[in-house]
Amino acid sequence: MKAFPAAARHGLHSCRKFTGPRPLLLKAFFTPERNYTTRNGTWFAQKSPVLRRNTTLQRLQFPRPGTVRSPSSYVRHASTTRPPKQRGPVARFIYRSAAWTGIFVFVSGVLVAGFFAYDATTYHEADGETVCPVSENALIPRRGGPKNLPIAEALVDDEDSEQMREQRDKPKLVVLGGGWGGVAMLKEMNPGDYHVTVVSPENYFLFTPMLPSAAMGTLELRSLVEPIRRIVSRLRGHFLKAEAVDVDFSNKLVEVAQTGADGKKVHFYLPYDKLVLGVGSISNPHGVTGLENCNFLKTIEDARLIKNKVLRNMELACLPTTTDEERKRLLSFVISGGGPTGVEFAAELFDMLNEDLLRSFPKILRNEVSVHVIQSRGHILNTYDEALSVYAEKRFEHDDVKVVTNARVKEVHPDKIVFTQKVDGKTVTKELPMGFCLWSTGVAQTELSQKIAKTLGDSQNNKHALETDGHLRLMGAPLGDVYAIGDCSTVQNNVADHLTTFLRGMAFEQGKDPEKMKITFEDWRKVARKVRKRFPQAADHLRRLDRLFESYDKDKSGTLDFGELHELLVQIDTKLTSLPATAQRANQQGQYLGKKFNRIAAALPGLRANEVDYGDLDEAVYKAFEYHHLGSLAYIGNAAVFDFGGLNFGGGLLAVYLWRSIYFAQSVSLRTRVLLAMDWGKRTLFGRGKFYHTKCEEHELTHHRFDEFLDSVMERSAKS
Ligand code: FAD
Ligand code: MG
Repeated sequence: MKAFPAAARHGLHSCRKFTGPRPLLLKAFFTPERNYTTRNGTWFAQKSPVLRRNTTLQRLQFPRPGTVRSPSSYVRHASTTRPPKQRGPVARFIYRSAAWTGIFVFVSGVLVAGFFAYDATTYHEADGETVCPVSENALIPRRGGPKNLPIAEALVDDEDSEQMREQRDKPKLVVLGGGWGGVAMLKEMNPGDYHVTVVSPENYFLFTPMLPSAAMGTLELRSLVEPIRRIVSRLRGHFLKAEAVDVDFSNKLVEVAQTGADGKKVHFYLPYDKLVLGVGSISNPHGVTGLENCNFLKTIEDARLIKNKVLRNMELACLPTTTDEERKRLLSFVISGGGPTGVEFAAELFDMLNEDLLRSFPKILRNEVSVHVIQSRGHILNTYDEALSVYAEKRFEHDDVKVVTNARVKEVHPDKIVFTQKVDGKTVTKELPMGFCLWSTGVAQTELSQKIAKTLGDSQNNKHALETDGHLRLMGAPLGDVYAIGDCSTVQNNVADHLTTFLRGMAFEQGKDPEKMKITFEDWRKVARKVRKRFPQAADHLRRLDRLFESYDKDKSGTLDFGELHELLVQIDTKLTSLPATAQRANQQGQYLGKKFNRIAAALPGLRANEVDYGDLDEAVYKAFEYHHLGSLAYIGNAAVFDFGGLNFGGGLLAVYLWRSIYFAQSVSLRTRVLLAMDWGKRTLFGRGKFYHTKCEEHELTHHRFDEFLDSVMERSAKS
């Protein structure tokens, strides 16, 4: 038994010998599973260094003073029989490699077989004829409303299932627009609470932050879209591919239009109990002439057109008949607008020209290509931290993307862009020949939003968006009927205007005249609490109530009079900025509204049972909307910048991977995530997407409209 402690010491020694930064996995291929040592004719087994932890050897240590070990733990791996002969390292490597290959082949085989088994279950035989009940009202809608149009009181799929039938008589919720706001709301809502109908001219949701990448072929366009019908089906809702053209608030009817099968426009009414406007925005023309010579980047169609136009210019530049000057013009790409969209597009365009196109095109093009970003402010990305703007500008300088700051575009011609620039305090007019111009200079109201604002008259005073209150209810529309979210809306920040409401409430409680009230500090706290509740965005400016009170109590009376309080609240008004037109904001507003509608649906049966007419139901069931800025990010060409409030940074490829991961996580469905991952992989292996265009696309470029092209094809085939 004396041999054991000695052997144990030996074992421990060999353990230590193996610790260290060696490639343990590889080592495992060459090392026998057990080492054997012999002492006094007895063989001791040790586990391989890789599997060493918690092994025999540790058990072979001297027991600590005071601990008792069972004798079995000492003798378990000791034997007097000779151990089996060991294979050499090469043989062991081959043997193990073969074993792992076998396992890999087997597992892959099982997975492939499993996939085919699942695939087989996804094919279905036609069910044959099924009886589908459709109400007469859905097939032949009655006419009515101010324009005597058909009223879609019932829809053709209202009775498609038992659950849909149950939903038929639920409150009618009509959502206009299937963008960020609308979709976020639909994803948040509980099925079965409302009879939901979504109206949108496009039957897909578009993941806009990645649109510049898709326009340049880094990603496929289909990876950014999710069919709206798929999103709506979770709520057993309905979708109508059409455009809302007007709203009749008193009859609760939306006028909807679509081009029918015969090519004529058809109009009908869609009734609602609750209406959500999420119709987004259009590009802001800023009164510039010649925008028909520009491309826009808002929809999938826009992205496709851009890709084809860039490619067409490259092809034209290679023709032997193209002059030097013309070649330079064709290869001059101008981006008007240095915000995140313009910057990301410029970066993607440069990447594509540099990494992909110029590889397969004549080398002379390399010297002639130019990319310009025209920005009206002093820096690009001017809403970001200044250090990030400067970083982005340096990056562009390095990539030879030229940034023209303090410049305003005046006119766009087919072959040149005219702009003014402030140089040393003087305004000079300049021209830039161009073959392609992207117009990306902020947002403006859609036609429908403009019409609604006009209808609501004095209640709507903002030229850029529809005004809502803190509960996102459209100002001027009947309370609790109509909501507006996303780019088409803005939350009113008129804290001071609400002063009389606040004071009247307080005066009523105290039985005083609001105009003559002297507000004590205690009253001021109450006012501040109400302001915070109604305008959560003002909360940040109402932190130090004592200081505010002190500084606005001009006459040092220890109270605030009406005038002093008004001045205080006007000051807060000026500090509140309007919410940004971003997907982030639209998404938060959509989620907010979805949650609130769930609450309202849950509260309604109780209110009805008790015959309670709750005046301000929204306020009763849910808090006002509060925007939380989560940060901004932008891709700037094999680099990215992040502005997370206090934490701002920019960087190269690692930052790009982070940028990608953030959008990957935000992508709308598992399907789009898988497609995104595949696209990035495809770019790595085979470069960016397609570099050819079909005859249809070529025609589209010259005629601008695909339907015109189809008409001409039809005409030709009719003649022949
Ligand atoms: P949208 O998403 O524009 O949706 C509007 C919907 O309404 C569309 O489905 C449209 O078809 C429909 N519609 C329009 N008119 C009517 C009508 N009359 N009747 C019925 N339906 C109608 N934001 C970010 O936060 N981060 C980014 O990185 C970012 N990148 C962007 C890149 C690009 C290229 C673009 C164009 C925008 C980007 N944005 C980004 C902004 C973001 O896309 C918008 O703020 C966001 O889409 C607004 O959401 P929304 O729901 O209000 O409108
Ligand atoms: Mg005073």
